[in-house]
Amino acid sequence: MIFKCKNCGGNAVYSPEKKMMVCPYCESENSYTRKDKETTYGLEVCPECGGTIPVEQYDSAMKCPYCDNSVIFNERVEGQYLPKFLIPFELGKEKVKEMIRDRFKKYTFAPADFLSEARLDSMKGIYVPFWFYDYQTNAVFEGEGTKVRSWTSGSYRYTETSYYSVVRDMNIPFEKLPADASIKMDDSIMDLMEPYDYSKLKDFMPEYLSGFNAEYYNMPAEEVENRAKQKMEGDASAILRSSVSGYSSLITKNQNVRILSRNSAYGLMPVWQYVYEYKNKAYPFYVNGETGKIIGTVPLSKGKVWAYSLTLWVLLTVIFAAVKGILGLL
Ligand SMILES: [Zn+2]
Ligand SMILES: [Zn+2]
Repeated sequence: MIFKCKNCGGNAVYSPEKKMMVCPYCESENSYTRKDKETTYGLEVCPECGGTIPVEQYDSAMKCPYCDNSVIFNERVEGQYLPKFLIPFELGKEKVKEMIRDRFKKYTFAPADFLSEARLDSMKGIYVPFWFYDYQTNAVFEGEGTKVRSWTSGSYRYTETSYYSVVRDMNIPFEKLPADASIKMDDSIMDLMEPYDYSKLKDFMPEYLSGFNAEYYNMPAEEVENRAKQKMEGDASAILRSSVSGYSSLITKNQNVRILSRNSAYGLMPVWQYVYEYKNKAYPFYVNGETGKIIGTVPLSKGKVWAYSLTLWVLLTVIFAAVKGILGLL
């Protein structure tokens, strides 16, 4: 499907700035119709120009390379692939460019065109598929704690050690623990993209994808669940431990986190991706499309480092010569 402006027929897209569908050509707001392709066959057929779009295995939305319309593939956002919710892009492309420039303008060792308009403009807004897990858990801690008291009486020093049986038994609920379900996206980078503000969650509507790229989940909920479970167990263990305090020493005898009930849901999260290519190496940057958190490594330009230190060296020589000159006067 594509979304067309009722006024001029242009491609209506979702605007993060205006938080609604807009036409970039005539600036009409929230005035659009949906156009589906005429045939039910051929996922990759563009509804507007009939061209065959080079769709990859998990793409659910992308631009048609022939007519530049933003196409959403019905078969990949409906039925079993229908996302339950998403966080719409809060930050538009121009805002993110500005944030990247601001953040890295002091990196004088980066290659000259790292922050150039042409390079930055190549960035893409991608809705990344995530599975979200809810757990109701029962967490139990059993251990032995000691409290040590010592005092002096006469010429004797007394030490008293009291032993305590420490038991904690609590029900801890977890809500929306995320794990990304995209092969292309590095797990550790997606973990660093967190946290998202779940108060911004919206029920899924295909309109939100218009103007962006999107993938549907690359693997079922069971396959990525271990990552969510690890986060849950780590948090449960920290909550248990923080509830026990005031002992001189504590020995764990038994610690167990049991899942009483679980639930999973499929959702899409917004990520801006800027891939900077330098000397045949790709340097990807990711920006959380809701919070603006930036993850990435700035490439170093060797030529520039050298040029910089040379200048510094020249400068130091001049200072040194000047100091010598002053000393000579004394
Ligand atoms: Zn228009
Ligand atoms: Zn097309």
